[in-house]
Amino acid sequence: MTDTPNVTSPREVMALFKDYGLQPHKRLGQNFLIDGNTARKITAALEAAAGDAVIEVGPGAGALTVLLARSGVDLLALEVDRGLVAMLNNILHPWPKARVINQDALKTDWSKLNGTYFKSAGSVKLISNLPYIISGPFMYSLFEEAFPFDTAVLMLQKEVAHRLVADPGDSNYGALSVLSGYYTHGKVLFNVSKNVFWPRPKVGSAVLKLQPRPRSLSAGEEDLFWQIVQGVFQQRRKTIHNNLGRLFPHLQDSLNGLLEAAFIEPLDRPEHLSVDQFAKLAKIAYNYKRKLS
Ligand code: SAM
Repeated sequence: MTDTPNVTSPREVMALFKDYGLQPHKRLGQNFLIDGNTARKITAALEAAAGDAVIEVGPGAGALTVLLARSGVDLLALEVDRGLVAMLNNILHPWPKARVINQDALKTDWSKLNGTYFKSAGSVKLISNLPYIISGPFMYSLFEEAFPFDTAVLMLQKEVAHRLVADPGDSNYGALSVLSGYYTHGKVLFNVSKNVFWPRPKVGSAVLKLQPRPRSLSAGEEDLFWQIVQGVFQQRRKTIHNNLGRLFPHLQDSLNGLLEAAFIEPLDRPEHLSVDQFAKLAKIAYNYKRKLS
């Protein structure tokens, strides 16, 4: 292929799909961005310079990928659809520093992948127009690895983007918000209309930027933090005292003292506690449990 096709032109993308015998798969969350301005806004938000290491998840027809390749970044894109991998690697032929591999993002060990592909890079940036069906498990996988990126710019279903940066008391606030707030600083940058995708999705989108936040807990304290956060939001309307009693029956007698030390009212509900209150509670409870054993 000599001339690079315009991968944000619906007509050219449809022609490419015809040539390669492809069609959009709903089960893979394939809604392709077909607006050059939106693609430019998203890639600009990553603030990646030539030579920076960048991972893209789900490059699709290449709306973000071609722009990134042109900018001279060292790009690795993970795409689960083999047909698209072949098509994109042909399109990206002029830019040897841009590679697309056939890989499921949900089965990826991020730190290992970063180390394997970017040996000389100190830090890696992440970009994705995420398939909405995998956004929850995908975000958990990033936090399980303590967010091993220098910056992430992610297009998500609007509601999920807002949940990731929700404050206590907000109806969206839940376990994912607390984990996100512990590992990252997050900001919703802008909304994206349903009309700039082919096929048109049913839900609206928003672009979110995440950057790592220094962690305040040791490995053991963090394990307990996850157990507390994931456990208490299963019953978000119950008081924190009742929730903790249910999750840790052996601590029942000490709960009031532990909560007081973390400056938490026993009758407060999980949905009103801040990230720092959860972190403090995990630290205090972990060290109390260690003294007992
Ligand atoms: N980035 C392109 C764009 O903006 O037009 C495509 C976005 S489309 C919403 C999501 C892409 O993620 C699709 O190409 C889909 O095949 C791919 N995908 C879905 N599940 C995936 C997974 N588990 N791992 C990697 N890619 C996946």
